[in-house]
Amino acid sequence: MDQQIFSSKPSDPKGPWDVAIVGSGPSGLTAAIYTTRGAASTLILGGEVWGGQLMLTTEVDNFPGFPQGILGPKLIGEMRAQAERFGAEFVGQNVTSIDVTKQPFQLTVNSQQYSARSIIIATGAETLWLDVPGVQKLIGRGVSSCAPCDAPFFKGKKVAVVGGGDSAMEEALVLTKYASEVTIIHRRDIFRASAAMQKEVKDNPKIKIVWDTEVTEVGGEEKLERVKLKNNKTNEVSELPIDGLFIAIGHKPGSAVFKDVVETDERGFIKLSEGSKTNVPGIFVAGDVHDARYKQAITAAGFGCMAAMDALKYLGTSR
Ligand code: NAP
Repeated sequence: MDQQIFSSKPSDPKGPWDVAIVGSGPSGLTAAIYTTRGAASTLILGGEVWGGQLMLTTEVDNFPGFPQGILGPKLIGEMRAQAERFGAEFVGQNVTSIDVTKQPFQLTVNSQQYSARSIIIATGAETLWLDVPGVQKLIGRGVSSCAPCDAPFFKGKKVAVVGGGDSAMEEALVLTKYASEVTIIHRRDIFRASAAMQKEVKDNPKIKIVWDTEVTEVGGEEKLERVKLKNNKTNEVSELPIDGLFIAIGHKPGSAVFKDVVETDERGFIKLSEGSKTNVPGIFVAGDVHDARYKQAITAAGFGCMAAMDALKYLGTSR
């Protein structure tokens, strides 16, 4: 495919750019495809470790358009190539500070300074994994954090979910469609999930709940085979043979550098006012850094599109 540049770049690479996109997962890269095609000069400050959570994923089977599935890093690579094809400039470094007290906004990347008339924050969120032996080694080999993505791989198998919030309930319910047995392992004797979700879980005959229990080790050579458990009240230890372990103990949004710039909630997720707007005019947000609920590549991409359209509208009326 021929290179089709839709957006020009500023004569000085430091800016001012029309849009600076911070982050390079599906939300940031989709935003860049839309802003460049909207003829806005676009700088992607993609981070030293770029591409977001899909870079850590193997097969992605639920992103429309790939009937045979696609590897996560390949999907992200294609999104980046698409954004660059339309003229987005990619810098693989982390933003270290932001000054929004003047226009254009100033973004510092190590010792380098960039400026932009608008900013799209698309820094995503990190899955919180259990900090116990074996977990890191077996991520993608039985250990997962996304039942909607991976449940079909566990047809007729035994799986467990760790956590007691709404995410854990949702993961368990999705898994019942495929797995033969779903065990929720929770560290207390009460869930923090909403009453309605708890009821659905407790009414489901396929779900067993193990209370007051923590996973202390995750074992298996090539793939997950078992978890070691410890009851917090009795100190009794046991082993559960298992094929899949879904960890649903929360997410940490990548909002640290923005926390004094835009409003965040008590967990650090950036607050939306309308569409993709933050409380600061000209700063928009997309993807998991504001979305604690859906957390899917396709929803992140959709949010990226929304932020780009809102940024283009803002640029059209602010010049
Ligand atoms: P959450 O509400 O923070 O729940 C995290 C769960 O993980 C808690 O039960 C917590 O136990 C447990 N946990 C945390 N650290 C742990 C550790 N090291 N070891 C073992 N267990 C640990 O997170 P979430 O479920 O992801 O939900 C986040 C937000 O999104 C919530 O506001 C939720 O309502 C919302 N959400 C909504 C929906 C929906 O409406 N459909 C779906 C998903 C999420 P403790 O209870 O003991 O602290």
